[in-house]
Formats: sequence, structure tokens, C-alpha cells
Amino acid sequence: MRKSIENNLSSVEARLQAAAHAAGRDSTKIKLLAVSKTRPAGCLRQAYACGLRRFGENYLQEALEKQVELNDLSIEWHFIGPIQSNKTRAIAENFDWVHSVDRVKIARRLSDQRPKSQAPLNICLQVNLDQEASKSGVSLDEVADAAAEIASLPHIKLRGLMAIPAKRECTEEQERAFRKLFDALEDLKQRLPDQTLDTLSMGMSADLESAIKAGSTMVRIGTDIFGARE
Ligand SMILES: *Cc1c(COP(=O)(O)O)cnc(C)c1O
Repeated sequence: MRKSIENNLSSVEARLQAAAHAAGRDSTKIKLLAVSKTRPAGCLRQAYACGLRRFGENYLQEALEKQVELNDLSIEWHFIGPIQSNKTRAIAENFDWVHSVDRVKIARRLSDQRPKSQAPLNICLQVNLDQEASKSGVSLDEVADAAAEIASLPHIKLRGLMAIPAKRECTEEQERAFRKLFDALEDLKQRLPDQTLDTLSMGMSADLESAIKAGSTMVRIGTDIFGARE
């Protein structure tokens, strides 16, 4: 298992570097988030041994169990799954980042429930780029107002935007979809100059090249690191 994670990781890193190079970007500005949903803790431990430090989880209960098993490791935990409001306290207490904040109410609860002894929780606002019923997130025209409200909350830090665009026919169209999120973040930087808006969380195993071309700063990769999920 260790060997295959190691091999997979080398090819993901090579793809990331090639895409950055092709786009004339500095590859060190693009972070790799290992998406470990459904993988047992042992898999994360192997990935950690290969040098990965950021892990993304979608399901709260599953993530909390792994956090207990892996509490000897210095992992940066990212929550990337749908959020029910009765789960915000456990998320606020046990994660470093949340990418899937899809409404102001959730941000407010996370801020209220973040322990004061911990650093502010890093947040990305999720955008539903294609207005898909199956996905959560604010629409592009709601981003500015929602971000302004979230930015004023005390115990969270708005870092940027996240999206999972619908699959497109060709890479040019995929890139155009990602570009909309890039433009939305550039607009926010103008509106909220005091915020550290340095994160565009976009790109998964199948489309990391298009996402990097369009300005992604954090790609979320599961399958191409750990293999196909059951
Ligand atoms: C599962 C998941 C990923 C990773 O997808 P892969 O195709 O396995 O790389 C990325 N982001 C989110 C929000 C996910 O739920």
C-alpha cells in the first residue's frame, strides 16, 4: 500500500508541476490536499509517511474517529463535505480548515463555536457555479454579500472560495468554468482588501490541470493518490 501511494503521489506531483509550468505559475504556490474520505486511518498514516500533511474529509463521524487514531501525527485537517447546522460545533472544534461553507448561517455558527483558545478557523465559501441541485454553495451573484458578512465574524478567517464545477466536454470549457471562480476571488480581493484572500480551492483528480491553469491554489485529490473508492 505504501508503495502504491508513494508512486501515485509522485505522478500527481509531476502533473501538478507540469500544469503549473505550462501556465507559467510557481508550483510551490499550489497546495495539495489529500482527500481521504472512506480510507482507513492506516492509509492516511502511509500517506503521511510519504510527506503529506493536509487531509480532507467529508463525513464528520468518520473523520473524528481517524483523528483519534492519528493524534500522534501533525495533520492539518480540512472539512470538505456538506455541513448540517447541528454538526458545526464538532467541526469548529476539530478542524483547521472548512472548504464547504455554503451559507452565512453556517459561518456564523462556526465562528460562535470555535474555541477561543484555538487560532481562527480557516474558511472557504463554497460556490455552486452551475446552480446544480445536487451541490451546495452560494450562487456567483451572492458571493460578494455573503463574503462581506463572513469576513466580519471574529473567530473564523475567510481565506477564499471553493467550487466543484459540473463536468465539461473539453478542457477549455472546464477551464472556463474554473476561471469564473478565479474572477470572483479577484473581485472579492478588491472589495475586501483587509482580508487574506489567498485560496482558490478547486481541481480534483480528473481536472487538476484545468484548475491549475485557471489559478487554483489548492487541489483536492483523492482517487489519484489512494486509488478508486469502493
Ligand atoms: C471526493 C472529493 C474530492 C476528491 O475527488 P477525487 O476525484 O477522488 O480526486 C475533492 N473534493 C471534494 C469536495 C470531494 O468530495
